Amino acid sequence: MAKEFDVIIIGAGPGGIFCAYELMEKRPDLKVLMIEKGRSIEKRNCPKRVTKTCAGCKPCSITTGFAGAGAFSDGKLSLSPDVGGTLPEILGYDEATRLIHESDEIYLKFGADTSVYGVDKEAELREIRRKAINANLKLVECPIRHLGTEEGYKIYSRLQEHILGKGVTIEFNTMVKDIIVENGVATGVVTDKGETFLAKEIVSAVGREGADWFKDKCEEIGIETKPGTVDVGVRVEVRDEVMQFLNENLYEAKLIYHTPTFDDKVRTFCTNPSGEVATEYYEGGLAVVNGHAYKGKEFKTNNTNFALLVSKNFTKPFKTPIEYGKKIAELSNMLCGGKILVQTYGDFKRGRRTTEERLCRNNLIPTLKDAVPGDLSLVFPHRIMVDLDEMIQALDKVTPGIASDETLLYGVEVKFYSNKVIVNKDFETSIKGLRAIGDGAGVTRGLQQASANGLSVARSIISSMK
Ligand SMILES: Cc1cc2nc3c(=O)[nH]c(=O)nc-3n(C[C@H](O)[C@H](O)[C@H](O)COP(=O)(O)OP(=O)(O)OC[C@H]3O[C@@H](n4cnc5c(N)ncnc54)[C@H](O)[C@@H]3O)c2cc1C
Repeated sequence: MAKEFDVIIIGAGPGGIFCAYELMEKRPDLKVLMIEKGRSIEKRNCPKRVTKTCAGCKPCSITTGFAGAGAFSDGKLSLSPDVGGTLPEILGYDEATRLIHESDEIYLKFGADTSVYGVDKEAELREIRRKAINANLKLVECPIRHLGTEEGYKIYSRLQEHILGKGVTIEFNTMVKDIIVENGVATGVVTDKGETFLAKEIVSAVGREGADWFKDKCEEIGIETKPGTVDVGVRVEVRDEVMQFLNENLYEAKLIYHTPTFDDKVRTFCTNPSGEVATEYYEGGLAVVNGHAYKGKEFKTNNTNFALLVSKNFTKPFKTPIEYGKKIAELSNMLCGGKILVQTYGDFKRGRRTTEERLCRNNLIPTLKDAVPGDLSLVFPHRIMVDLDEMIQALDKVTPGIASDETLLYGVEVKFYSNKVIVNKDFETSIKGLRAIGDGAGVTRGLQQASANGLSVARSIISSMK
Protein backbone atom coordinates (compact mmCIF):
# COMPACT_ATOMS: atom_id res chain seq x y z
CA MET A 1 0.00 0.00 0.00
CA ALA A 2 1.47 3.34 -1.05
CA LYS A 3 2.14 5.89 1.71
CA GLU A 4 1.14 9.50 1.09
CA PHE A 5 3.06 12.67 1.92
CA ASP A 6 2.72 16.34 1.00
CA VAL A 7 6.33 16.65 -0.17
CA ILE A 8 8.95 14.03 -1.07
CA ILE A 9 12.59 15.16 -1.18
CA ILE A 10 14.96 12.79 -2.97
CA GLY A 11 18.42 13.15 -1.41
CA ALA A 12 19.45 14.52 2.01
CA GLY A 13 22.37 16.72 0.95
CA PRO A 14 22.46 20.45 1.85
CA GLY A 15 19.85 21.21 -0.85
CA GLY A 16 17.39 18.64 0.51
CA ILE A 17 18.13 19.50 4.16
CA PHE A 18 17.54 23.24 3.79
CA CYS A 19 14.35 22.52 1.84
CA ALA A 20 13.05 20.29 4.66
CA TYR A 21 14.19 22.84 7.27
CA GLU A 22 12.32 25.70 5.60
CA LEU A 23 9.16 23.65 4.97
CA MET A 24 9.02 22.83 8.68
CA GLU A 25 9.74 26.45 9.69
CA LYS A 26 6.93 27.84 7.56
CA ARG A 27 4.47 24.93 7.43
CA PRO A 28 5.02 22.58 10.38
CA ASP A 29 1.73 20.88 9.48
CA LEU A 30 3.14 19.41 6.24
CA LYS A 31 4.01 15.72 5.93
CA VAL A 32 7.52 15.69 4.51
CA LEU A 33 9.49 12.59 3.48
CA MET A 34 13.20 12.55 2.64
CA ILE A 35 14.58 9.49 0.87
CA GLU A 36 18.35 9.08 1.13
CA LYS A 37 20.35 6.25 -0.33
CA GLY A 38 23.13 6.58 2.25
CA ARG A 39 23.23 6.33 6.03
CA SER A 40 22.15 8.68 8.81
CA ILE A 41 24.97 11.07 9.74
CA GLU A 42 26.10 9.27 12.91
CA LYS A 43 26.49 6.04 10.92
CA ARG A 44 28.54 7.64 8.17
CA ASN A 45 32.04 6.43 8.66
CA CYS A 46 34.85 6.36 6.12
CA PRO A 47 37.41 3.70 7.18
CA LYS A 48 39.99 5.43 5.02
CA ARG A 49 40.12 8.36 7.44
CA VAL A 50 41.91 6.00 9.84
CA THR A 51 43.54 3.41 7.58
CA LYS A 52 44.36 5.85 4.71
CA THR A 53 43.26 3.12 2.30
CA CYS A 54 39.84 3.03 0.65
CA ALA A 55 37.74 0.02 1.60
CA GLY A 56 35.36 0.62 -1.36
CA CYS A 57 32.19 0.87 0.85
CA LYS A 58 28.89 0.76 -0.99
CA PRO A 59 27.41 3.28 -0.84
CA CYS A 60 30.43 5.55 -0.28
CA SER A 61 30.23 7.39 3.06
CA ILE A 62 32.03 10.43 1.66
CA THR A 63 29.36 11.23 -0.95
CA THR A 64 26.14 9.64 0.36
CA GLY A 65 24.13 9.81 3.58
CA PHE A 66 22.67 12.70 5.58
CA ALA A 67 24.40 15.95 4.48
CA GLY A 68 25.42 14.34 1.17
CA ALA A 69 28.76 15.48 -0.19
CA GLY A 70 28.74 18.21 2.47
CA ALA A 71 29.25 15.99 5.53
CA PHE A 72 32.98 15.41 5.11
CA SER A 73 33.64 18.35 2.82
CA ASP A 74 36.01 21.12 3.79
CA GLY A 75 32.94 23.22 4.58
CA LYS A 76 33.99 26.40 2.84
CA LEU A 77 30.87 28.51 2.53
CA SER A 78 31.17 30.96 -0.37
CA LEU A 79 29.34 34.10 0.66
CA SER A 80 29.16 35.67 -2.80
CA PRO A 81 26.53 34.76 -5.42
CA ASP A 82 29.34 34.97 -8.02
CA VAL A 83 30.60 31.61 -6.82
CA GLY A 84 29.11 28.14 -6.58
CA GLY A 85 26.23 28.03 -9.00
CA THR A 86 23.65 29.67 -11.20
CA LEU A 87 21.13 31.00 -8.65
CA PRO A 88 21.74 34.62 -9.75
CA GLU A 89 20.86 33.69 -13.36
CA ILE A 90 17.67 31.93 -12.28
CA LEU A 91 16.46 34.18 -9.44
CA GLY A 92 18.26 37.46 -10.07
CA TYR A 93 21.38 38.73 -8.29
CA ASP A 94 19.61 40.44 -5.38
CA GLU A 95 17.39 37.49 -4.52
CA ALA A 96 20.38 35.09 -4.73
CA THR A 97 22.34 37.40 -2.41
CA ARG A 98 19.45 37.48 0.07
CA LEU A 99 19.07 33.69 0.06
CA ILE A 100 22.80 33.15 0.57
CA HIS A 101 22.67 35.51 3.54
CA GLU A 102 19.70 33.62 4.97
CA SER A 103 21.27 30.18 4.58
CA ASP A 104 24.47 31.55 6.13
CA GLU A 105 22.41 32.70 9.13
CA ILE A 106 21.13 29.13 9.52
CA TYR A 107 24.70 27.74 9.46
CA LEU A 108 25.57 30.30 12.17
CA LYS A 109 22.51 29.32 14.21
CA PHE A 110 23.66 25.70 14.12
CA GLY A 111 27.18 26.54 15.26
CA ALA A 112 29.31 27.82 12.33
CA ASP A 113 32.49 29.79 13.10
CA THR A 114 31.66 33.52 13.03
CA SER A 115 34.91 34.62 11.33
CA VAL A 116 34.95 35.32 7.60
CA TYR A 117 38.04 35.27 5.35
CA GLY A 118 38.56 37.79 2.55
CA VAL A 119 37.09 40.90 4.23
CA ASP A 120 38.97 43.86 5.77
CA LYS A 121 42.14 43.01 3.83
CA GLU A 122 42.06 45.73 1.19
CA ALA A 123 45.84 46.29 1.02
CA GLU A 124 46.63 42.58 0.73
CA LEU A 125 43.84 42.10 -1.79
CA ARG A 126 45.24 44.92 -3.94
CA GLU A 127 48.65 43.26 -3.85
CA ILE A 128 47.22 39.89 -4.93
CA ARG A 129 45.09 41.52 -7.63
CA ARG A 130 48.12 43.42 -8.97
CA LYS A 131 50.06 40.17 -9.34
CA ALA A 132 47.04 38.46 -10.89
CA ILE A 133 46.70 41.22 -13.50
CA ASN A 134 50.39 40.88 -14.30
CA ALA A 135 49.82 37.16 -14.98
CA ASN A 136 46.59 37.74 -16.99
CA LEU A 137 44.59 36.03 -14.27
CA LYS A 138 41.23 37.25 -13.01
CA LEU A 139 40.79 37.33 -9.23
CA VAL A 140 37.19 36.62 -8.19
CA GLU A 141 36.41 38.19 -4.84
CA CYS A 142 34.43 35.96 -2.55
CA PRO A 143 34.35 36.09 1.26
CA ILE A 144 34.60 32.60 2.77
CA ARG A 145 33.28 31.19 6.02
CA HIS A 146 35.24 28.04 6.84
CA LEU A 147 33.35 25.38 8.79
CA GLY A 148 36.16 22.82 8.67
CA THR A 149 35.46 19.13 8.07
CA GLU A 150 34.85 18.10 11.68
CA GLU A 151 32.84 21.22 12.64
CA GLY A 152 30.77 20.97 9.44
CA TYR A 153 29.93 17.39 10.39
CA LYS A 154 28.70 18.56 13.81
CA ILE A 155 26.57 21.32 12.29
CA TYR A 156 24.88 18.85 9.93
CA SER A 157 24.38 16.44 12.86
CA ARG A 158 22.49 19.17 14.71
CA LEU A 159 20.44 19.87 11.59
CA GLN A 160 19.55 16.17 11.30
CA GLU A 161 18.38 16.16 14.92
CA HIS A 162 16.45 19.38 14.35
CA ILE A 163 14.49 18.29 11.28
CA LEU A 164 13.75 14.84 12.71
CA GLY A 165 12.51 16.59 15.84
CA LYS A 166 10.21 18.71 13.67
CA GLY A 167 8.55 15.56 12.33
CA VAL A 168 10.26 15.03 8.96
CA THR A 169 10.37 11.32 8.04
CA ILE A 170 13.72 10.19 6.64
CA GLU A 171 14.12 6.83 4.92
CA PHE A 172 17.86 6.10 5.02
CA ASN A 173 19.66 3.38 3.03
CA THR A 174 16.92 3.71 0.43
CA MET A 175 17.42 4.69 -3.18
CA VAL A 176 14.71 6.13 -5.38
CA LYS A 177 14.71 3.99 -8.51
CA ASP A 178 11.74 5.45 -10.38
CA ILE A 179 9.63 8.56 -10.55
CA ILE A 180 5.95 7.85 -11.26
CA VAL A 181 4.48 10.09 -13.96
CA GLU A 182 0.78 9.95 -14.84
CA ASN A 183 -0.60 12.08 -17.67
CA GLY A 184 2.45 14.32 -17.60
CA VAL A 185 2.30 14.86 -13.82
CA ALA A 186 4.75 13.40 -11.27
CA THR A 187 2.75 11.69 -8.55
CA GLY A 188 5.24 9.61 -6.57
CA VAL A 189 8.40 7.54 -6.41
CA VAL A 190 9.34 3.87 -6.23
CA THR A 191 12.35 2.82 -4.14
CA ASP A 192 14.87 0.02 -4.56
CA LYS A 193 13.03 -1.76 -1.73
CA GLY A 194 9.90 -1.85 -3.91
CA GLU A 195 7.98 0.68 -1.80
CA THR A 196 5.81 3.36 -3.38
CA PHE A 197 5.45 6.84 -1.89
CA LEU A 198 3.01 9.40 -3.26
CA ALA A 199 3.09 13.22 -3.06
CA LYS A 200 1.87 16.22 -5.03
CA GLU A 201 5.31 17.83 -4.71
CA ILE A 202 8.54 15.95 -5.44
CA VAL A 203 11.96 17.60 -5.20
CA SER A 204 14.98 15.95 -6.79
CA ALA A 205 18.06 17.02 -4.76
CA VAL A 206 20.34 14.14 -5.72
CA GLY A 207 23.71 15.92 -5.97
CA ARG A 208 26.59 14.86 -8.19
CA GLU A 209 26.27 11.33 -6.84
CA GLY A 210 22.77 11.07 -8.34
CA ALA A 211 23.29 13.30 -11.40
CA ASP A 212 23.77 10.34 -13.73
CA TRP A 213 20.68 8.57 -12.41
CA PHE A 214 18.64 11.76 -12.74
CA LYS A 215 19.86 12.36 -16.28
CA ASP A 216 18.59 8.89 -17.27
CA LYS A 217 15.25 9.58 -15.55
CA CYS A 218 14.97 12.90 -17.38
CA GLU A 219 15.39 11.10 -20.69
CA GLU A 220 12.91 8.40 -19.70
CA ILE A 221 10.13 10.72 -18.53
CA GLY A 222 10.78 13.51 -21.00
CA ILE A 223 12.29 16.28 -18.86
CA GLU A 224 14.14 18.87 -20.86
CA THR A 225 17.86 19.19 -20.17
CA LYS A 226 20.77 20.87 -21.88
CA PRO A 227 24.38 19.70 -21.93
CA GLY A 228 26.45 21.81 -19.62
CA THR A 229 30.10 22.40 -19.01
CA VAL A 230 32.65 19.62 -18.64
CA ASP A 231 35.02 20.45 -15.79
CA VAL A 232 38.06 18.23 -15.65
CA GLY A 233 41.58 18.64 -14.33
CA VAL A 234 43.92 17.87 -11.45
CA ARG A 235 44.34 18.51 -7.74
CA VAL A 236 47.55 20.39 -7.03
CA GLU A 237 49.47 19.92 -3.78
CA VAL A 238 52.27 22.17 -2.53
CA ARG A 239 53.88 23.00 0.82
CA ASP A 240 51.88 25.59 2.81
CA GLU A 241 54.82 28.03 2.53
CA VAL A 242 54.20 28.35 -1.22
CA MET A 243 50.60 29.52 -0.71
CA GLN A 244 50.97 31.28 2.64
CA PHE A 245 50.14 34.84 1.55
CA LEU A 246 47.03 33.78 -0.40
CA ASN A 247 45.86 31.39 2.32
CA GLU A 248 46.26 33.87 5.15
CA ASN A 249 44.47 36.67 3.38
CA LEU A 250 41.85 34.96 1.27
CA TYR A 251 41.74 31.35 2.53
CA GLU A 252 40.72 30.48 -1.02
CA ALA A 253 42.09 32.48 -3.94
CA LYS A 254 39.67 32.07 -6.83
CA LEU A 255 41.66 32.75 -9.99
CA ILE A 256 40.51 32.35 -13.59
CA TYR A 257 42.74 32.12 -16.66
CA HIS A 258 42.07 32.00 -20.39
CA THR A 259 44.97 30.03 -21.76
CA PRO A 260 47.09 31.61 -24.52
CA THR A 261 47.22 28.55 -26.80
CA PHE A 262 43.59 27.39 -26.85
CA ASP A 263 41.77 30.26 -25.09
CA ASP A 264 40.26 27.66 -22.73
CA LYS A 265 39.00 28.66 -19.30
CA VAL A 266 40.98 27.19 -16.39
CA ARG A 267 40.17 28.05 -12.78
CA THR A 268 41.41 27.32 -9.30
CA PHE A 269 38.81 25.66 -7.11
CA CYS A 270 38.41 24.43 -3.53
CA THR A 271 41.66 25.39 -1.80
CA ASN A 272 42.50 23.51 1.41
CA PRO A 273 45.28 25.14 3.44
CA SER A 274 47.07 22.62 5.71
CA GLY A 275 44.67 20.05 4.29
CA GLU A 276 44.56 16.59 2.82
CA VAL A 277 44.02 15.26 -0.66
CA ALA A 278 41.17 12.72 -0.67
CA THR A 279 39.66 10.11 -2.95
CA GLU A 280 35.97 10.31 -3.70
CA TYR A 281 34.18 7.22 -5.04
CA TYR A 282 31.23 7.24 -7.38
CA GLU A 283 28.81 4.62 -8.68
CA GLY A 284 30.71 1.57 -9.92
CA GLY A 285 33.76 2.38 -7.75
CA LEU A 286 35.03 5.20 -9.98
CA ALA A 287 37.81 7.00 -8.06
CA VAL A 288 38.23 10.75 -8.50
CA VAL A 289 40.36 13.12 -6.47
CA ASN A 290 39.19 15.86 -4.09
CA GLY A 291 40.51 17.60 -0.97
CA HIS A 292 39.50 18.92 2.43
CA ALA A 293 40.96 20.50 5.60
CA TYR A 294 40.17 20.10 9.27
CA LYS A 295 39.59 23.06 11.55
CA GLY A 296 41.40 21.53 14.55
CA LYS A 297 45.17 22.16 14.81
CA GLU A 298 45.86 18.49 15.64
CA PHE A 299 44.66 17.44 12.17
CA LYS A 300 46.60 20.04 10.16
CA THR A 301 49.16 18.96 7.56
CA ASN A 302 52.03 20.99 6.06
CA ASN A 303 50.44 21.06 2.63
CA THR A 304 47.89 23.11 0.72
CA ASN A 305 45.85 21.52 -2.04
CA PHE A 306 43.49 23.02 -4.62
CA ALA A 307 41.91 21.96 -7.89
CA LEU A 308 42.75 23.24 -11.36
CA LEU A 309 39.73 22.67 -13.58
CA VAL A 310 39.56 23.12 -17.33
CA SER A 311 36.01 24.09 -18.39
CA LYS A 312 34.89 22.91 -21.82
CA ASN A 313 31.54 23.56 -23.48
CA PHE A 314 31.00 21.14 -26.34
CA THR A 315 28.44 21.77 -29.05
CA LYS A 316 26.18 19.57 -31.20
CA PRO A 317 25.93 16.59 -31.47
CA PHE A 318 27.59 16.18 -28.05
CA LYS A 319 25.17 15.60 -25.17
CA THR A 320 26.93 13.48 -22.57
CA PRO A 321 29.24 15.67 -20.44
CA ILE A 322 29.08 13.31 -17.44
CA GLU A 323 30.15 10.37 -19.61
CA TYR A 324 33.05 12.40 -21.03
CA GLY A 325 34.35 13.19 -17.54
CA LYS A 326 33.88 9.59 -16.44
CA LYS A 327 35.80 8.19 -19.42
CA ILE A 328 38.81 10.34 -18.52
CA ALA A 329 38.61 9.28 -14.85
CA GLU A 330 38.25 5.63 -15.93
CA LEU A 331 41.44 5.85 -17.99
CA SER A 332 43.35 7.09 -14.96
CA ASN A 333 41.73 4.39 -12.72
CA MET A 334 42.67 1.75 -15.31
CA LEU A 335 46.34 2.74 -15.22
CA CYS A 336 46.45 2.89 -11.42
CA GLY A 337 44.50 -0.18 -10.35
CA GLY A 338 41.43 1.87 -9.36
CA LYS A 339 43.48 4.40 -7.37
CA ILE A 340 44.36 8.06 -7.88
CA LEU A 341 47.36 8.89 -10.08
CA VAL A 342 50.04 11.30 -8.83
CA GLN A 343 52.76 12.99 -10.88
CA THR A 344 55.28 15.68 -9.99
CA TYR A 345 55.08 18.84 -12.09
CA GLY A 346 58.73 18.23 -13.07
CA ASP A 347 57.80 14.87 -14.62
CA PHE A 348 54.61 16.33 -16.10
CA LYS A 349 56.72 18.93 -17.96
CA ARG A 350 59.27 16.37 -19.10
CA GLY A 351 56.64 13.84 -20.21
CA ARG A 352 57.78 10.95 -18.03
CA ARG A 353 56.20 8.77 -15.38
CA THR A 354 56.84 9.74 -11.78
CA THR A 355 58.57 7.07 -9.71
CA GLU A 356 58.48 6.35 -5.97
CA GLU A 357 62.16 7.23 -5.88
CA ARG A 358 61.63 10.70 -7.37
CA LEU A 359 58.65 11.32 -5.05
CA CYS A 360 60.88 10.72 -2.00
CA ARG A 361 63.38 13.43 -3.03
CA ASN A 362 60.97 16.29 -2.31
CA ASN A 363 60.24 18.69 0.56
CA LEU A 364 56.65 17.75 -0.06
CA ILE A 365 55.19 14.58 1.43
CA PRO A 366 52.00 13.51 -0.40
CA THR A 367 48.94 13.46 1.88
CA LEU A 368 47.09 10.93 -0.26
CA LYS A 369 49.01 7.85 0.79
CA ASP A 370 47.63 5.30 -1.68
CA ALA A 371 48.07 7.46 -4.81
CA VAL A 372 49.98 5.67 -7.58
CA PRO A 373 52.90 7.49 -9.29
CA GLY A 374 52.07 7.74 -12.98
CA ASP A 375 51.94 9.83 -16.14
CA LEU A 376 49.01 12.19 -16.77
CA SER A 377 49.84 12.48 -20.48
CA LEU A 378 48.48 8.94 -20.87
CA VAL A 379 45.16 10.11 -19.45
CA PHE A 380 44.39 13.65 -20.62
CA PRO A 381 43.95 14.90 -24.18
CA HIS A 382 46.89 17.07 -25.33
CA ARG A 383 44.74 20.20 -25.11
CA ILE A 384 44.02 19.73 -21.41
CA MET A 385 47.71 19.03 -20.70
CA VAL A 386 48.64 22.33 -22.38
CA ASP A 387 45.88 24.22 -20.54
CA LEU A 388 47.06 22.90 -17.15
CA ASP A 389 50.70 23.65 -17.88
CA GLU A 390 49.97 27.23 -18.96
CA MET A 391 47.79 27.81 -15.88
CA ILE A 392 50.50 26.54 -13.52
CA GLN A 393 53.01 28.90 -15.09
CA ALA A 394 50.62 31.85 -14.74
CA LEU A 395 49.90 30.97 -11.09
CA ASP A 396 53.62 30.90 -10.40
CA LYS A 397 53.67 34.67 -10.99
CA VAL A 398 51.08 35.21 -8.24
CA THR A 399 52.46 32.72 -5.76
CA PRO A 400 56.01 31.73 -6.71
CA GLY A 401 56.88 28.08 -6.13
CA ILE A 402 53.76 26.60 -7.72
CA ALA A 403 55.73 25.73 -10.85
CA SER A 404 58.43 23.95 -8.85
CA ASP A 405 59.41 20.46 -10.02
CA GLU A 406 58.19 19.00 -6.72
CA THR A 407 54.60 20.26 -7.00
CA LEU A 408 52.23 17.30 -7.09
CA LEU A 409 49.41 16.85 -9.57
CA TYR A 410 46.79 14.24 -8.70
CA GLY A 411 44.46 13.00 -11.40
CA VAL A 412 41.80 13.24 -12.15
CA GLU A 413 39.48 15.76 -10.61
CA VAL A 414 36.17 15.93 -12.41
CA LYS A 415 32.91 17.60 -11.51
CA PHE A 416 29.74 15.77 -12.47
CA TYR A 417 27.40 18.75 -12.33
CA SER A 418 27.39 19.41 -15.99
CA ASN A 419 23.96 18.14 -17.03
CA LYS A 420 21.66 21.14 -16.67
CA VAL A 421 17.99 20.46 -16.07
CA ILE A 422 15.85 23.24 -17.51
CA VAL A 423 13.94 24.79 -14.59
CA ASN A 424 11.98 28.01 -14.05
CA LYS A 425 12.40 30.37 -11.09
CA ASP A 426 10.39 27.99 -8.90
CA PHE A 427 12.72 25.13 -9.93
CA GLU A 428 9.86 23.35 -11.70
CA THR A 429 10.93 20.97 -14.45
CA SER A 430 8.86 20.43 -17.57
CA ILE A 431 7.03 17.65 -15.65
CA LYS A 432 4.42 19.16 -13.32
CA GLY A 433 4.93 18.23 -9.67
CA LEU A 434 8.65 17.57 -10.05
CA ARG A 435 11.20 20.21 -9.08
CA ALA A 436 14.97 19.86 -9.38
CA ILE A 437 17.61 21.66 -7.28
CA GLY A 438 21.24 21.59 -6.23
CA ASP A 439 24.30 20.07 -7.85
CA GLY A 440 22.38 17.14 -9.37
CA ALA A 441 20.27 19.49 -11.47
CA GLY A 442 23.30 21.50 -12.60
CA VAL A 443 21.88 24.53 -10.73
CA THR A 444 24.59 24.75 -8.04
CA ARG A 445 28.20 23.72 -7.46
CA GLY A 446 28.75 24.35 -3.77
CA LEU A 447 27.38 24.14 -0.24
CA GLN A 448 26.06 27.66 0.19
CA GLN A 449 24.17 27.91 -3.11
CA ALA A 450 22.84 24.34 -2.70
CA SER A 451 21.57 25.31 0.77
CA ALA A 452 20.10 28.59 -0.49
CA ASN A 453 18.46 26.64 -3.32
CA GLY A 454 16.79 24.40 -0.72
CA LEU A 455 15.30 27.45 1.05
CA SER A 456 14.11 28.91 -2.20
CA VAL A 457 12.38 25.76 -3.51
CA ALA A 458 10.63 25.27 -0.15
CA ARG A 459 9.17 28.78 -0.45
CA SER A 460 8.02 28.09 -4.01
CA ILE A 461 6.29 24.91 -2.83
CA ILE A 462 4.56 26.75 0.01
CA SER A 463 3.38 29.56 -2.32
CA SER A 464 1.97 27.04 -4.78
CA MET A 465 -0.11 25.48 -1.98
CA LYS A 466 -1.86 28.73 -1.12
C1 LIG B 1 35.24 16.01 -0.72
C2 LIG B 1 34.35 17.17 -1.05
C3 LIG B 1 34.69 18.45 -0.60
C4 LIG B 1 33.86 19.54 -0.90
N1 LIG B 1 34.18 20.77 -0.37
C5 LIG B 1 33.35 21.81 -0.58
C6 LIG B 1 33.60 23.07 0.05
O1 LIG B 1 34.54 23.23 0.82
N2 LIG B 1 32.76 24.11 -0.22
C7 LIG B 1 31.68 23.99 -1.05
O2 LIG B 1 30.96 24.96 -1.24
N3 LIG B 1 31.40 22.80 -1.64
C8 LIG B 1 32.20 21.71 -1.41
N4 LIG B 1 31.91 20.50 -1.98
C9 LIG B 1 30.72 20.42 -2.82
C10 LIG B 1 29.46 20.35 -1.96
O3 LIG B 1 29.59 19.29 -1.05
C11 LIG B 1 28.25 20.16 -2.86
O4 LIG B 1 28.19 21.27 -3.75
C12 LIG B 1 26.96 20.10 -2.08
O5 LIG B 1 26.99 19.07 -1.12
C13 LIG B 1 25.79 19.88 -3.04
O6 LIG B 1 24.62 19.71 -2.32
P1 LIG B 1 23.38 18.88 -2.92
O7 LIG B 1 22.36 18.83 -1.85
O8 LIG B 1 23.02 19.43 -4.25
O9 LIG B 1 23.95 17.40 -3.22
P2 LIG B 1 24.74 16.34 -2.33
O10 LIG B 1 25.38 16.96 -1.18
O11 LIG B 1 25.58 15.56 -3.27
O12 LIG B 1 23.58 15.39 -1.78
C14 LIG B 1 22.81 14.58 -2.62
C15 LIG B 1 22.29 13.39 -1.82
O13 LIG B 1 21.37 12.66 -2.62
C16 LIG B 1 21.54 11.28 -2.40
N5 LIG B 1 21.02 10.57 -3.57
C17 LIG B 1 21.50 10.61 -4.84
N6 LIG B 1 20.72 9.88 -5.66
C18 LIG B 1 19.73 9.37 -4.89
C19 LIG B 1 18.61 8.53 -5.17
N7 LIG B 1 18.35 8.10 -6.41
N8 LIG B 1 17.81 8.14 -4.13
C20 LIG B 1 18.07 8.58 -2.85
N9 LIG B 1 19.11 9.41 -2.54
C21 LIG B 1 19.92 9.80 -3.55
C22 LIG B 1 23.03 11.11 -2.20
O14 LIG B 1 23.30 9.94 -1.47
C23 LIG B 1 23.39 12.39 -1.45
O15 LIG B 1 23.39 12.18 -0.05
C24 LIG B 1 32.70 19.38 -1.70
C25 LIG B 1 32.38 18.11 -2.18
C26 LIG B 1 33.18 17.00 -1.85
C27 LIG B 1 32.78 15.64 -2.35
